[in-house]
Amino acid sequence: MYKIFNEGMIEVITGPMFSGKSEELLRRLRTLEYAKLKPLVIKPKFDTRFSAEEIVSRSGISHKTHILDNIKDIYDLLKQDSYKAVVIDEAHFFGHDLVLVADDLANLGYLVIIAGLDQDYLRQPFGPMPELMAIAERVTKLQAICVVCQHAASTSFRKVASNKTNLLGNYHEYEARCRKCHVHGEKMKKVND
Ligand SMILES: [Zn+2]
Repeated sequence: MYKIFNEGMIEVITGPMFSGKSEELLRRLRTLEYAKLKPLVIKPKFDTRFSAEEIVSRSGISHKTHILDNIKDIYDLLKQDSYKAVVIDEAHFFGHDLVLVADDLANLGYLVIIAGLDQDYLRQPFGPMPELMAIAERVTKLQAICVVCQHAASTSFRKVASNKTNLLGNYHEYEARCRKCHVHGEKMKKVND
């Protein structure tokens, strides 16, 4: 177990959909509570799937959170209490500004914990995540189980026809797949077009 008490560092928790990123984040939040390191919890405005004011894992555990449209507004929230840590969920929906803000907050001494998808549904690096992974002290990359072959899965496969990168969804729209089954699935989509 690493020392979560380290001041001024970034941890990124990433992986495909259904890999347990929110559960991992909630586990970190419990550790912060035991350590009495008060966290400010942030989600982008975009993600309102489960609850507007809470981080809710698919297993149903939750934690109160602030919704931000612009990540730079985080500085106003930080002034309101003696926060020691910043926890950000669904971080792939924030723009490049998140890279600058996360780096700045770590430099100021905050423990910054960020969860988000590393790849979009076409396996392309997603938003600010690649850069965040590069500047982080620690990266936890999770895997799900491929629904086709049951091997470890690192991609989110979109089952429905839509070209929107930010299409939100759950089990109906997406499934976890390994590389091989993702590539095969995309080929089959083109054949069926
Ligand atoms: Zn597979």
